[in-house]
Amino acid sequence: MSAEFLTILPLGGGNEIGANCYYIHWGGTGIVLDVGIHPKKEGLESLPDFSQIYNAPVDDIILTHAHQDHIGALPFFIREFPHTRIMATYPTAIMARIALHNSIRILREQLIKHPEFKIYSHEEVELMLRTIRDIAYRKPFQCKGFSIPESEAIEAELYDSGHILGSCGVRLQKNGHSFFYTGDINLRAQSIEVPAQRPPGKVHTLLVEATLGATDPDALPDWDEECSRLARECNRIFSKNGSVLIPVFAIGKTQELLSVIWKLMEEGKMMKVPIYTGGIGRKVAKIYDKFRYMVPVQNPRRELKDIPQIPLNGNVEYHSLVQEPCIVLASSGMMVHRTASYNIAKVFLRNPYSAICTVGYMDEESPGYRIAHAKQGDKIRLTDYSEETRVQCEILNFRFTSHARRDDLLEYIFSLHVDNVVLTHGDADAVAWMGEQILRENRGIRVFAAEPGKKIEIPVIW
Ligand SMILES: [Zn+2]
Ligand SMILES: [Zn+2]
Repeated sequence: MSAEFLTILPLGGGNEIGANCYYIHWGGTGIVLDVGIHPKKEGLESLPDFSQIYNAPVDDIILTHAHQDHIGALPFFIREFPHTRIMATYPTAIMARIALHNSIRILREQLIKHPEFKIYSHEEVELMLRTIRDIAYRKPFQCKGFSIPESEAIEAELYDSGHILGSCGVRLQKNGHSFFYTGDINLRAQSIEVPAQRPPGKVHTLLVEATLGATDPDALPDWDEECSRLARECNRIFSKNGSVLIPVFAIGKTQELLSVIWKLMEEGKMMKVPIYTGGIGRKVAKIYDKFRYMVPVQNPRRELKDIPQIPLNGNVEYHSLVQEPCIVLASSGMMVHRTASYNIAKVFLRNPYSAICTVGYMDEESPGYRIAHAKQGDKIRLTDYSEETRVQCEILNFRFTSHARRDDLLEYIFSLHVDNVVLTHGDADAVAWMGEQILRENRGIRVFAAEPGKKIEIPVIW
């Protein structure tokens, strides 16, 4: 009988939705899963702590999807570990290009407060992305460390995780032990995305996201019911000559909501009004269209480009948006200061006939959270430094989630017959709830909570 350890070292993320980055050391091979940037922090603090692996073998990076909390720190990582092989699905690689180029502008704004922060250039992004190896779902490949010659090959395979286009979970296998990282996962269908594929057979060690661990499933309505409610509420707003602003993330949520709205309009359930969509969301929609026959989607015959849309560019006067009924899909999803949705929200807030419809998670410190928790007549400040605004429009909150509900996650974990569960990508309450429920089932599963800098060593015996 031989024994070795599978080591999981979170370099960021772990107990929050932050700079997701997990270093896996197994039999002499070092694999980094995701290299995210913290969406709320600034400067060096927003990056994973790479110094923890300066003296360890680092061979491969596998990216699960193109959201900033999973890829945003990639150029910083490559600057420190330029020899690393990067792997991702093809849609993720293409969307990463858009996301990383776009965030240079945001990072530049941090330089005044954080001069020590050496941000990356457009040229660095281009050079780095040329080296990405694209990997298809369910096509096995090998990761073999080159820094330690006697390292053994790890068999790897990617599975669709149902979260956004190209998103994947990562399976690593060696000597009969199977490790699986879910990335961000959704186990139910959205409008475009299909439910996640499950890895076949037993998973000995599972690194699983727990975003909605503290959210009561009763507060998460069924997707179709939520579509019907959206149609009803929008029709009510349109009938009093109002418009609807939906703040959305550019990658994933924009395309899903665009698809939802058009389906409702085509089925005659929602009044047909002009739809405005923002620049990055439109670029990403083209990628959704391009890959619709190459990755699993609900209906590859539907193309987002066939949906009539007006570009939300510099020619659109934001004040004109509340003069005739329309729907505006604008990023950012949390109405972050100075983004399109933030600036448009300021116009909508002053219009008593219109509505702002939130559709997803809002961080407590975001302007979106303050708006989502306000009602008509309230006085709110969008940021700590902005002046008070009276909320004159309606605020309607919906949940169109792209993350697995906690009851689905538990069923998923038990269905994989796991021995070790490492909970991540959730706040303390979310991880605690999930951990307690798994232990309560008393199936002999060992439960760990991922914490940045805290090494988890799993004995692998064969
Ligand atoms: Zn994500
Ligand atoms: Zn995430």
